Amino acid sequence: SRRWARAMAILQELEEKCVTPAAKLKQVADAMTVEMHAGLASEGGSKLKMLITYVDNLPTGNEEGLFYALDLGGTNFRVLRVQLGGKDIGVTNQEFAEVSIPTDLMVGKSEELFNYIAEELAKFVAKEGQDFQVPPGRQRELGFTFSFPIMQTSINSGNLIKWTKGFSIDDAVGQDIVSELTKAIERKGLDMRVAALVNDTVGTLAGGRHTHKDVIAAVILGTGTNAAYVERAQAIPKWHGLLPKSGEMVINMEWGNFRSSHLPLTEYDAALDSESLNPGEQIFEKLISGMYLGEIVRRVLRKMAEEACIFGDTIPPKLNVPFILRTPDMSAMHHDTSTDLSVVGDILKSTLEIPDASLKVRKVVVEICNIVATRGARLSAAGMLGILKKLGKDVITDDENQKNVIAMDGGLYEHYAEYSKCLENTLKELLGEDVSKTVTFEHSNDGSGIGAALLAASHSQYR
Ligand code: ADP
Ligand code: MG
Repeated sequence: SRRWARAMAILQELEEKCVTPAAKLKQVADAMTVEMHAGLASEGGSKLKMLITYVDNLPTGNEEGLFYALDLGGTNFRVLRVQLGGKDIGVTNQEFAEVSIPTDLMVGKSEELFNYIAEELAKFVAKEGQDFQVPPGRQRELGFTFSFPIMQTSINSGNLIKWTKGFSIDDAVGQDIVSELTKAIERKGLDMRVAALVNDTVGTLAGGRHTHKDVIAAVILGTGTNAAYVERAQAIPKWHGLLPKSGEMVINMEWGNFRSSHLPLTEYDAALDSESLNPGEQIFEKLISGMYLGEIVRRVLRKMAEEACIFGDTIPPKLNVPFILRTPDMSAMHHDTSTDLSVVGDILKSTLEIPDASLKVRKVVVEICNIVATRGARLSAAGMLGILKKLGKDVITDDENQKNVIAMDGGLYEHYAEYSKCLENTLKELLGEDVSKTVTFEHSNDGSGIGAALLAASHSQYR
């Protein structure tokens, strides 16, 4: 019928606009490398902030004692206590609690958010068992993982540049996040010091390095996306401080804000961006990360409903609700292996209140998920190629033991198998057979929390 032909035309156009052949990905990677140089050259020199983290030493394995971590970065936050055994022993004991952040706190006042966090932290400390003991007279110390762009002024201070990922708390922008947290901790009467402020990518890098000495970079694919890597201090022209003894500095790229004319953008991306809380910003993030993938799919489905009536003569009202189709639902539909695509049917029904999509339509839905996820995964591989290029590790070097590990974390990477498989295959494709043997991925499960505790230990006041 004419309607079905229209649906197929929309699908085909989506596919054409989202293609990411290797040649295009290499242009994206080159653009990433160029922006990395520009961001390191001067403050504000690039869309990539390339933030100096004040982490010039990664964990050695000798860290010892009881440390806490608090991870705030998306929909949930986690508190963690970690017992570190010292010399090559590593983590001997750990416990965590996870709490979701009420959505009204994500767009309210700074004091309310930090009061809530400090309250949960205090509850966690209050539940401490016999296995975890702080030596008498010693203050508890915390590594604070805060996954939003921060202009750091030291290892444990820094001002919030902007919010991302659906947070928007105006009075916190420009403030020292550690002092906001510290004030809330004091209001709760808790005796705890923030020893390190780290981005989740930096925490993941630190946690990854602790278990694997060849970790050179970390990439997060969760609600948002970001990357950090170890740079030579000499290669950071904008750094005017003393050169660190190690000769190295961890850089938090804030790669979610990358953009380039080579990125394959569609009308759906443009509309999503302009209707978002941060139009014009975080364009790379809006193409590849968990907060947005399902939303892109929703927008395509709505267009097909409007112009090709794939769900009948009226547009299902739920299809008009932003962010109603979440990436975990998209992922479940994408992975549906049943012959009648019953999972797709169930999700269309439960989330979008579409009761009776035909098999033909269900197949189209899966294909849309595939197109959107594939584009995202391939673009994240291109970003990783950009980092390897910057480090000269996209080619075979003189080093006979050339081995580079990328620590990975985030719910999207962890749970969306088609996505992570595609990402890894694409990086192989881009690097070629020989080089790709030297690069491996390591899923650093909750590395960011442990990494933050390790960094708190190495920056302890009792060191
Ligand atoms: P955050 O990024 O908020 O710190 P996570 O790393 O746990 O937290 O990532 C959570 C995100 O991961 C969710 O917002 C969602 O986009 C994505 N995600 C979680 N589960 C799945 C899933 N089963 N399939 C696809 N994406 C998922
Ligand atoms: Mg996180």
